[in-house]
Amino acid sequence: MIESTRLTKRYGDTVAVDNLTFTVEPGKVTGFLGPNGAGKSTTLRMILGLNTPTSGSVTVDGVPFSHRPRGLRHVGALLDAQDVHGGRSARAHLTALARGNRIPPARVDEVLQEVGLAKAARRRIGGFSLGMKQRLGIAGALLGDPPVLLFDEPLNGLDPEGVLWVRGLFRRLASEGRTVFVSSHMMAEMEHTADRLIVIGQGRLIADESLQGFSARHASLGVTVDTPDLAALEAVLTAEGASVRRKGDQRGRVTGLTAARIGELAHRHRIMLHELATHTSSLESAFMSLTADSVEYLAGEAR
Ligand code: ADP
Repeated sequence: MIESTRLTKRYGDTVAVDNLTFTVEPGKVTGFLGPNGAGKSTTLRMILGLNTPTSGSVTVDGVPFSHRPRGLRHVGALLDAQDVHGGRSARAHLTALARGNRIPPARVDEVLQEVGLAKAARRRIGGFSLGMKQRLGIAGALLGDPPVLLFDEPLNGLDPEGVLWVRGLFRRLASEGRTVFVSSHMMAEMEHTADRLIVIGQGRLIADESLQGFSARHASLGVTVDTPDLAALEAVLTAEGASVRRKGDQRGRVTGLTAARIGELAHRHRIMLHELATHTSSLESAFMSLTADSVEYLAGEAR
């Protein structure tokens, strides 16, 4: 569990993080969403004790991170995948991390295997693609088998297969009861990844709710479904609090649930879907309009 209370960070006149209060619970994947410059990295760095708050506080399982002598065993983090020593091999990099945190060296090969880098273990990191560096960063986060994991923009540079793999990994980590906190500047990335969303803009909290709740409130145009068993699907979705507007014998427009959730429910109730499509005023545009006022570079360009 991560608890941030009135967390604030100023750099001169810039308020990078502004009075942020939120909780990240274990057993879930929580998306930390905001446009570039919103204050996500600064917040993650404060969670890890790498930046000192100007005011307010943040704790991990009740204790400030800096009070934990073997940090990686409690909180694993991927902050900047590029920030690695290019001359070292993947194995040497992880071995050094393990040694510094008193983690058994055998974990190194386990995590290399887990992230799909076993074959590249002896290669110099300098020759790695961004996607491979992301995998290496994720391996570093997993090394200490920690109950709390932070990932800053982990999907950057991953190919579609890598994105699927990461989503599956986050889901598994959460299902093991860990706290998984993942930042992104794109709603599309979080839509299929997160259970909960914490949305910030210009350092301030904009939304803190379940993905479903966010979707129900903001993505009002909904999701189109096409199914030979519309009546059954309608019953299932309505029972989950969604509303379904019929558009024909087989087609309907659903509001109040994400496409991912509708797909899951259909699967669980063995209802066949021929189409499942989120509408243009989807979560992405809801997110864009919510945060539009807070996008720094847009404000700069308008001047
Ligand atoms: P995000 O991760 O959401 O893109 P950041 O936390 O990196 O946002 O940045 C938030 C704001 O703080 C930005 O305006 C950024 O320019 C500023 N900022 C971040 N780090 C520093 C720093 N070390 N010195 C000065 N300003 C900074």
